[in-house]
Amino acid sequence: MKNLLGFVIFIILACNLSAQSNGESIQDHYCNKARNEQKYHDAMLNALTIEDLSFDLKYYRLEWKINPAVYAIDGKACCYFQAKKNGLDILNFNLSTQLKVSEIVYHGSTISFTQTGTYDLTVQLPSALPIETLDSLTIIYAGVPPSGGFGSFIQSTHNNMPIIWTLSEPFGAQDWWPCKNGLTDKVDSLDVIVTTPDKYRVASNGLLVSETQIDSFKIFHWKHQYAIAPYLIAIAVTNYEQYVDIVPLSNGTQLPMLNYVYPEDLQAAKQGTQNLIKVLQFYDSLFVTYPFYKEKYGHAQFGWGGGMEHQTMSFVINYNWGLLAHELAHQWFGDMVTCGSWEDIWLNEGFATFLEGLTRQRFLQESTWWDWRINKINYITSVPNGSVKVDDTTSVGRIFNGRLSYDKGSYLLHMLRWKLGDDAFF
Ligand SMILES: [Zn+2]
Repeated sequence: MKNLLGFVIFIILACNLSAQSNGESIQDHYCNKARNEQKYHDAMLNALTIEDLSFDLKYYRLEWKINPAVYAIDGKACCYFQAKKNGLDILNFNLSTQLKVSEIVYHGSTISFTQTGTYDLTVQLPSALPIETLDSLTIIYAGVPPSGGFGSFIQSTHNNMPIIWTLSEPFGAQDWWPCKNGLTDKVDSLDVIVTTPDKYRVASNGLLVSETQIDSFKIFHWKHQYAIAPYLIAIAVTNYEQYVDIVPLSNGTQLPMLNYVYPEDLQAAKQGTQNLIKVLQFYDSLFVTYPFYKEKYGHAQFGWGGGMEHQTMSFVINYNWGLLAHELAHQWFGDMVTCGSWEDIWLNEGFATFLEGLTRQRFLQESTWWDWRINKINYITSVPNGSVKVDDTTSVGRIFNGRLSYDKGSYLLHMLRWKLGDDAFF
């Protein structure tokens, strides 16, 4: 995730650089500050639920009806799960109680459940399951989602057209679908099936396996067959234009980079994503092959002031170099490898920030790499202390602290590179 709004705050703190690169100031960093904390839904503070470890989620089929002109969701979530204890008869999910579950279907019959507190959905199985049993159930629900964190479920407009997008990181998945709202239970695969009026397109994770017209509606069916954490599952719905860039990878794959962009921004998007091809090849050469190479990489445009690394399809506000390079880096650091606790978020944001810096060293003028480093040092040392390890994981502002989780995290990696030397480091 990268919030471009922090830029303004940075100028006030350290107004000593003004280098520009590809139309984006290199001073961009990703701090959050009180502004985002104000948006933080109070109920979210009560939402740091302990994940139910008595069952392991394997698969989700998430079916939604979304009209971007209407702030609401109508959903059906089928999940496959495996019992992780003998006598499993209660399953605890997280789902906002502002969304009403109408029924839960299990083996063809409805079963009992309760919705309590702000985010607790407790499902009672009719009989207890032995350990390792694989089973499934379907949760049917609807309502008007709350929107926590950075805006987990947002309705807005662009060029007078409606859009709905989601951005769940860190705790917002439970605002709009029933999940285990933590970091420790990735499903192995996922189907996302969204019905929307036929003038819109739906962006999501994985491969678009079908686009079906029924009357005045279209059904977009996305399939993702890699492990994925709940906060990285996302949809965005509006009147997207689409195009594909092809990225040749080191393993011989011709990877499609699929772009869903606002029609009014098509030309800027094409230029920006064209520039990203060599960045994707650069990362692909530095680490393991692009992690989701059997499917795609891509972008969907949205209105939040930055970007979010939704798995295989980053959501971005624009197509500037730094933003695209940052979100792309997360596909390895954050998405493929996910930290086990939000206290270690610097492993996501530090790597993404550092790698964006590396692309400046590799592809842009030497001065932009120099300025990037000066910029980071000035910001990190503008306050005398603070750890990259998050000491309060109930605070979204602390988790995504720009100075510590992003910039100091990136400089910690740069320090390791300095100490180890390039051969050992890479
Ligand atoms: Zn990020």
